[in-house]
Amino acid sequence: MLTDSHTHLNAEQFNEDQDEVIQRALDAGVTRIVNVGFNRETIPSSIALAERYDFIYSTVGWHPVDAIDMRPGDLEWIEELCKHEKVVAIGEIGLDYYWDKSPKDVQQRVFREQIRLARKLGMPIVIHNRDAHQDILHILKEEKAEEVGGIMHCFSGSWETAKQCLDMNFHISFGGPVTFKNARQPKEVLAQVPLDRLLIETDAPYLTPHPFRGKRNETGYVRLVAETAAEIRGVTLEEIAEITTNNAIRLLGLK
Ligand SMILES: [Zn+2]
Ligand SMILES: [Zn+2]
Repeated sequence: MLTDSHTHLNAEQFNEDQDEVIQRALDAGVTRIVNVGFNRETIPSSIALAERYDFIYSTVGWHPVDAIDMRPGDLEWIEELCKHEKVVAIGEIGLDYYWDKSPKDVQQRVFREQIRLARKLGMPIVIHNRDAHQDILHILKEEKAEEVGGIMHCFSGSWETAKQCLDMNFHISFGGPVTFKNARQPKEVLAQVPLDRLLIETDAPYLTPHPFRGKRNETGYVRLVAETAAEIRGVTLEEIAEITTNNAIRLLGLK
């Protein structure tokens, strides 16, 4: 009963074997998948994927790295797509100060606009945060993101940062990096997150968990993240699977 709360099965890395990757996920015990559409190309293909499989859902949003590509009308396009029955959140949105394709001020504007849209529609948001902890927290607070809450995806911050996100109604999602032997900080945070706010994900094809690090990631590997979470929390794999799946169902309204 596993749920991968954040994956990119429509990425070109899966062009050759998407159906087999999905079958392997089912074989690994995955029952629900949230696929993330984040720009002009991946939003339509993510929704199409969600239309093909009843256990796959989609998010729609504009990624900070691609913020510079956003054109007039795109926000209205996203708003329209949010009415789709398989669209469950706005994301991934946020800030990415690692890549410099989009200037910080453009990223921040696009981020704020989408938080406002989410509040208008009452939809949860999926946050991408790379090297931007302080600005993310500041903008989430200023834009009253706690009204909708959502998911801090592939969380990499400190417990201090996690606490502030929890205070703003966010769930904390862990991906492959938490399985790495030297991942002291993510393991520390995972140990303390309230169980009713915990989610797991792959972010496939990126961020592959141990022992497949370096290879292409896939949704079935969410089981490895679940195993690490179970070990850290001192519960069984089945319990972690049930807890994180129920959290995703409750937050995103999955069936
Ligand atoms: Zn991301
Ligand atoms: Zn992602």
